[in-house]
Amino acid sequence: MATSFKALAELCEKLGATRKRLLMIDMVADFLKNLEAQEVEPAVSMILGRAFPKWSQQTLEVSWATLSDIIKRITGIDWKVFLDAFGKTGDVGSATKTVFEEAKVKRQVTLFERTLTIAEVRRSLEAIAETIGAGSREKKERLIEALLSLASPLEAKYLIKIFIGEMRTGFHEGLMEQAVSEAFQIPLNTVQKASMTIGDIGEVAVIAKTQGKEGLAKIKFKVFRPVGLMLAQMADGIAEALKEHEGKTSFEHKLDGARVQIHKLNNEVRIFSRRLTDVTESLPEIVETARKNITAKEVILEGEVIAVDSHGYPIPFQHLMRRFRRVHAIEDAAERIPAKLYLFDILYLNSESLISLPYTRRRQILAENVGGIPLTKQLVTDKLEEAERFLKEAIDAGHEGLMAKKPDSPYTPGVRGKRWLKIKPVLEPLDLVIIAAEYGYGRRHEWLSDYYLAARDVESGEFLAVGKTFKGLTDAEIIEMTKRLKESAIKEEHRRVFVTPKTVVEVTYNEIQKSPKYKCGMALRFARISRIRDDKMPEEADTIQRVREIYEKQFLKKGRYKAE
Ligand code: AMP
Repeated sequence: MATSFKALAELCEKLGATRKRLLMIDMVADFLKNLEAQEVEPAVSMILGRAFPKWSQQTLEVSWATLSDIIKRITGIDWKVFLDAFGKTGDVGSATKTVFEEAKVKRQVTLFERTLTIAEVRRSLEAIAETIGAGSREKKERLIEALLSLASPLEAKYLIKIFIGEMRTGFHEGLMEQAVSEAFQIPLNTVQKASMTIGDIGEVAVIAKTQGKEGLAKIKFKVFRPVGLMLAQMADGIAEALKEHEGKTSFEHKLDGARVQIHKLNNEVRIFSRRLTDVTESLPEIVETARKNITAKEVILEGEVIAVDSHGYPIPFQHLMRRFRRVHAIEDAAERIPAKLYLFDILYLNSESLISLPYTRRRQILAENVGGIPLTKQLVTDKLEEAERFLKEAIDAGHEGLMAKKPDSPYTPGVRGKRWLKIKPVLEPLDLVIIAAEYGYGRRHEWLSDYYLAARDVESGEFLAVGKTFKGLTDAEIIEMTKRLKESAIKEEHRRVFVTPKTVVEVTYNEIQKSPKYKCGMALRFARISRIRDDKMPEEADTIQRVREIYEKQFLKKGRYKAE
């Protein structure tokens, strides 16, 4: 029998109400066991807050502005009700539920009134995602409205959460793997391995149900289906990387570009971004390069695409990202920022998965199969000074730092670990002043935890924002900071509180970018508060002029390197 969406919403509600992991796993496993085969993947995706499987290129493309307009239309409720509820919980889904309850709308009891099933919800989501192009907006809205109109308050809560992609039940992918293992009586490591390989636990669950352990053991990579990326952790420096990798490691230039996964079968090439989006169309010259140089019939490769100037010198990453954003736009070739590909890994070659091979072996195979495409520059060493020189050389060549990859390590899709470490020399920290703050979300919804950071403009004496961060402070410090900022509050607008410039904080960051977002035209990337500088007065904070100096220095060859 078809399973109702209501049952799924109730399950999610129960998940959100407990923190007991084993209990959560049991509940989900029980739920999965009773599903029909075609319901399994949609249910798994939805429980994880996804409308579609992870590798799918379908996206809903609906903004909160659109969703909130629709909620207003359906319920006809004063929006203050929503804002109050949101203020209390910090959760958009819960606030939607309150609005739906409050409206007590007798849902349009049509002749066909019936409960929504999981399959129907998936079909609606597909229809919404498929509505693209000119004149699609209204149609999309109508589809969403039709779906939400059938929903009970609890169902609406979870539909909205799926729309915005955030469940907040605490039930994540790792737990889902355990639930699938329990539901279908399959060893956890078989489930995990299959999930890494095809990159979607929903599909793994379907195979587990229909073909059991044998089916999962047979799972292989599929060309044109993006594989989850292996991710790196930050290391303090070269010494730490050497120690972590047991004395000797493979250092590589860390290029400041965009990660790409390149799939090729015969003459067809597709390129996926870090977020596993198909970006083939925005990188035609990289497609050409791959076609010309790679003779193997079937491969999955990884590398970094960087933007370069007319001398081939790397230019900041944001220039390249502009190209990704214009994925669907047809652009003038002359306008294109030249892009260059460097490869660093190979996952799959002619029907064979290579991910269990040691990294050094994969690099060898990579080098043998990519013709003239350059690899990221590499140095395998156990010598600290040699590695330090290599780092300096990378920075001097305009790159970001180094990656250290454990020479004997396999490729672990979707896993962030210490086998890959990134080493970036930090830019000197700035002392900045907090001029406004926003309430956080979830656990932090009553705390001012997101801070606008400003530097002083010597000319006008004004404090101008150069960035925003919610990172770096402990809970206790945030609570203390909330108190302190409330005392100097000037006005409150929505969830933002403007304060008099009093508190100085030391901020680290990776880069200063050009940005239209702030009046000063610059923005810190990856800002993080490293400490509160109560010993400093706002007048002593760093100036806009200083920020600009550092911004400009970044472009000088040696600008990014800070001698230790
Ligand atoms: P981060 O984006 O700071 O988490 O650093 C990891 C990213 O560095 C990867 O996702 C790649 O986009 C990028 N990267 C640049 N050069 C390399 C390299 N040689 N090996 C692996 N990743 C690299």
